[in-house]
Amino acid sequence: MLWSLSTRFLTNALLKLPKLKTLIKLKLHRKIKEGGVLKSATISMDRNGRFFVSLKYEYKEPKAAPSANTHTDNQGIRAIGLDMSLEHLYVDSDGDTAEFPRFYRQQEEKLAKLQHVLSGMKRGSKRYERQKHKIAKLHEKIAAQRRDFLDKLSYNLAYHYDVICIEDLNMHAMAQSLHLGKSVMDVGWGMFTRMLEYKCKRFGHTLVKIDQWYPSSKTCCHCGSRKDDLTLSDRLYICPVCGNIIDRDWQAAINIKEEGLRLYHQEQAA
Ligand SMILES: [Zn+2]
Repeated sequence: MLWSLSTRFLTNALLKLPKLKTLIKLKLHRKIKEGGVLKSATISMDRNGRFFVSLKYEYKEPKAAPSANTHTDNQGIRAIGLDMSLEHLYVDSDGDTAEFPRFYRQQEEKLAKLQHVLSGMKRGSKRYERQKHKIAKLHEKIAAQRRDFLDKLSYNLAYHYDVICIEDLNMHAMAQSLHLGKSVMDVGWGMFTRMLEYKCKRFGHTLVKIDQWYPSSKTCCHCGSRKDDLTLSDRLYICPVCGNIIDRDWQAAINIKEEGLRLYHQEQAA
């Protein structure tokens, strides 16, 4: 079988594949959260003959609140950077993601099924109207669950960090220009950042919004060089200058944090 491992603060791991006798040494590009079940491993090779393995984990419960054990910069400021993600809401500068709770995903699946059934019904019929009502109810329930989840998540972040750094994204413009449609809005990023904003104020903490054109994805967080030909489909950043290999979103979150902290200290000094 595949392998099991202790993942806390792990940067290297050993992989055991069913048909290979030797263990393969892995270099992890993202921290593996504890408590997950390994569902699959996909192996690929790039043009330069480097092997990559993509691991899929499943988690029962959503990620716990950010721990009190947060990193501080050299001036004792507890800071975190968040990179907006369609898949996870965000990836943070520690390589962690915010996952919507499982029940929420299940409700979404249920909603899709109800809608499918509706599409097969005769418009205007009694059954059709009843089904429509059911769907509207579920919509409300899901919206309430999402609000509740975002509320707790933003509270925890605003409470634990002195400085939270995000990109200043215009969600409406983004949805239109990237043809991402509803998904960008659905992930709740706009609502989440508004919650962060007033909760940070409440705790006397700071939400720093960095310029949306800041090249957070295209800058190597290790050596600072830039890779302008990075495309949206490049999930891994492979630095041609220093050899750094890191998950694209994780690196973006690190850069957002660094830039946000720079702006924060500049503001404090003024
Ligand atoms: Zn580099």
